[in-house]
Amino acid sequence: RELSKDEVRKMVKDENIRFLRVMFTDMLGTIKSVDLPVSQLDKLMDNKIMFDGSSIDGFVRIEESDMYLYPDMATWLVFPWGAEHGKVARVICSVHLVDGQPFPGDPRNNLKRVLHDMQDMGFKDFNIGPEPEFFLFKTDEQGNPTQTVNDQENYFDMEPADRGEDCRRDIVLALEKLGFNVEAAHHEVAPGQHEVDFKYSNALEAADNIQTFKLIVKTIAKKYGLHATFMPKPLSGINGSGMHLNMSLFSKDGQNAFYDANDSKQLSPTAYHFLGGLMKHARSYTAICNPIVNSYKRLVPGYEAPVYVAWSTSNRSPLIRIPSDRGMGTRVELRSADPSANPYLAIAAVLEAGLDGLRNELPPIHEVDENIYQMTEAERKEKDIHNLPDTLHNALKSLAADEVVKGSMGDHIYHSFMEAKTREYDSYRQHVSDWERQRYMEEY
Ligand code: ADP
Ligand code: MG
Ligand code: MG
Ligand code: MG
Ligand code: MG
Repeated sequence: RELSKDEVRKMVKDENIRFLRVMFTDMLGTIKSVDLPVSQLDKLMDNKIMFDGSSIDGFVRIEESDMYLYPDMATWLVFPWGAEHGKVARVICSVHLVDGQPFPGDPRNNLKRVLHDMQDMGFKDFNIGPEPEFFLFKTDEQGNPTQTVNDQENYFDMEPADRGEDCRRDIVLALEKLGFNVEAAHHEVAPGQHEVDFKYSNALEAADNIQTFKLIVKTIAKKYGLHATFMPKPLSGINGSGMHLNMSLFSKDGQNAFYDANDSKQLSPTAYHFLGGLMKHARSYTAICNPIVNSYKRLVPGYEAPVYVAWSTSNRSPLIRIPSDRGMGTRVELRSADPSANPYLAIAAVLEAGLDGLRNELPPIHEVDENIYQMTEAERKEKDIHNLPDTLHNALKSLAADEVVKGSMGDHIYHSFMEAKTREYDSYRQHVSDWERQRYMEEY
């Protein structure tokens, strides 16, 4: 429930809140935050907090740089730490132009725009249940991350007196204090790797939650002398970190629009068409769901990450899995996305892809029940199973050719995204790495 202005004022007093942390997300997915002294509360609630948009990645140039932060009071929460010096409350903001219009380069505004289109098509909510994974690394005396993971455990292992375990438990407690409904938290397959799943919510809230989640994880890890990273593939030779996105559409009457008791798989035409859209646009939204050079080091065979564009209800290896839950839990799970994605952009992109499937009644081709990894290349070719892009460069090429997925970003974000990502890839391409010297220095 959203608090009234008076309730907020009272809470600030009663709970000894001294600072207001206002947060928004830039085009690259980085959380931007400013701490305001609590004396600015009324100004904040009246949408009068101004900032310089030209200092934010992907926003605007100098000439038009004045922007305003409009707080979304539904996101107001009080951080569970720092009580000694007065508590900090945070609120997520939307970015507005001087004339009061929502700024189209703000990824959160952009997601709202796509959600509006979805509502016009007769749906109430796009639900997202994210499964973010991360690594905990030890830090050195200076507090910088090392390349040593914090434990040698494996999937679901329980080891007493493990700092990683304690740290994860603390993360879960902090999340629960902040109102998160944590469904599961467990050790992942790789040493030092963890997953925390929280209950699905509507797309905007889910994207906000993902950003808050990253902040909490990093903050608490630091308290344990650990460094938490959401980098998709921090170490070669072991599993990388993904962020599976579970998704479903709820209709205006609150029913799961993907469920149909009468179908052989108990999936509705809406589910099949949405899936059709996700299949058709997979290569291009990969640029948004896997947006950094390092993302493509995770999307390789042998480490439980998807490589081929296919879906299945029966096995866990393809790009898209339909878990066996039905009724309200009916959902599709996209397994390629990773936690380096800007959640606002990634969710808008997959939604737009799915809605394109609905608008054009696309069929969900490429259901594959056998293990694609055991097929020969010829067999895959015969079944018309394509690869996901193998580099950021190739993903960007697919994105540039896909009007639907480009449309999910709007012109402003698309152009700044392309420019930044092309620069990022070029910089990577020009760098000579240790791998190359080790491989070639003596041989040539
Ligand atoms: P996995 O079996 O892939 O490890 P998890 O159990 O870790 O899956 O996570 C499942 C996620 O799916 C949770 O975040 C859960 O809240 C979410 N979920 C459940 N029902 C729905 C739904 N109808 N729409 C979207 N997400 C859902
Ligand atoms: Mg999981
Ligand atoms: Mg599970
Ligand atoms: Mg996992
Ligand atoms: Mg999963």
